[in-house]
Amino acid sequence: MTTNNNCFKTPLLTVEKTLEMIKSNINSISTTQTQSIRDALGHTLAEDVISDINVPPHRNSAMDGYAILSTDLNTDNSLQLKVIGTSFAGAPYEGTVSSGECIRIMTGAMMPDGADTVIMQEDCERTENVISLNSQHQAGQNVRHPGEDIKTGTVVLTAGKQISPADLGLLSSIGIAEVQTYNKPKVAFFSTGDELKSLGEDLGPGDIYDSNRYTLFGMLQKMDVKIIDLGVIADKKELIQQTLENAAQSADMVLTSGGASVGEADYISEILQDIGQVNFWKIAMKPGKPLAFGHIDQTPYFGLPGNPVSVMATCYLFVQPAIRYLKGLKQSEHLSLKATCLNMLKKAPGRTDFQRGMLKQNDKGELTVDTTGMQGSHILTSMSKANCFIVIPQDSGNVEAGEVVEVLPFNGIL
Ligand code: AMP
Ligand code: MG
Repeated sequence: MTTNNNCFKTPLLTVEKTLEMIKSNINSISTTQTQSIRDALGHTLAEDVISDINVPPHRNSAMDGYAILSTDLNTDNSLQLKVIGTSFAGAPYEGTVSSGECIRIMTGAMMPDGADTVIMQEDCERTENVISLNSQHQAGQNVRHPGEDIKTGTVVLTAGKQISPADLGLLSSIGIAEVQTYNKPKVAFFSTGDELKSLGEDLGPGDIYDSNRYTLFGMLQKMDVKIIDLGVIADKKELIQQTLENAAQSADMVLTSGGASVGEADYISEILQDIGQVNFWKIAMKPGKPLAFGHIDQTPYFGLPGNPVSVMATCYLFVQPAIRYLKGLKQSEHLSLKATCLNMLKKAPGRTDFQRGMLKQNDKGELTVDTTGMQGSHILTSMSKANCFIVIPQDSGNVEAGEVVEVLPFNGIL
């Protein structure tokens, strides 16, 4: 990656191009571990999983009823069959069923030799050891076949899949107790700014409370990474340099907020010129124009903007996919929907807007979106009310009420 620290001359980068550059400059974490499947929930699978068995492993009944020979159905309109035994799930009937005979069978119980069809118990009348039924049944009905779900030798899960509750079931159904997963990435972050106070401290003139560390903590926690919170670092060169170097040593990704815009950007960029390979970009998006991205040694680094809404928007749009690459995940995530906008939205052409909205469904089941109010990059209240971003394209101007817009639902991270 080339280093370009001059904010003033860099042309605006599109969001898509930024995502491409990030993607091509992040490798998945290289260390893996063996975990019991329960511990592996939410981790990324680091190997393909192949089944050694068929699921189901044997022919079995899909119903409680009677296992019969389908050839007996051809006889006449009603038939009577002798019940010669029972097959329970886990306790199969050992003998063979012949013409004129049947066995009582439970759901999941093994089909006996000879029988190929199951009649639901509701469709039979039983008197002592004889059942009566009509012949209006399909040959082979209500029988589950070996390998119907999974065949021996099939790849059931591929490397790069995030292990879900269904996957725990799938793995256990093929007898697998442990899997190889990527280690969870460690993400270190800190806030920069002399004006920032941590909770519990008094605010002096011009001070504000540091909120970015808390929003970032929340988002990173939801992204299921190991969090290293390095606190607030004052705008002192040696201190920031030392913290960045330590962070890059101990973490798989480093995030900072603040100091990426023009005023202090030169300050952080000065340090990063010595210790890293970092680009200072201006992105054609609002909120969140300034963004630094690159590496300190081998560790990916994001310098996020300082404004509270900008930090959340850039974390959502850029850090989130970067963490997915780091985790070795193969699937993409952001779901984009179309909704009718209920308000007029102000927008100037030039940058893609990510306005904060409330996505709902009306009585007819159609998606609608409302603005959550003031859209300044320091207005956290409108972020807190929102459940989606309303994406207004770069070249577009105002949106009129009633227009269809693109929305990105917050997918549980924000
Ligand atoms: P900067 O990018 O450092 O110039 O910051 C831009 C704006 O965001 C300024 O108004 C800062 O006071 C504010 N800001 C920076 N960091 C934080 C933070 N951690 N929490 C809240 N506001 C912040
Ligand atoms: Mg600052």
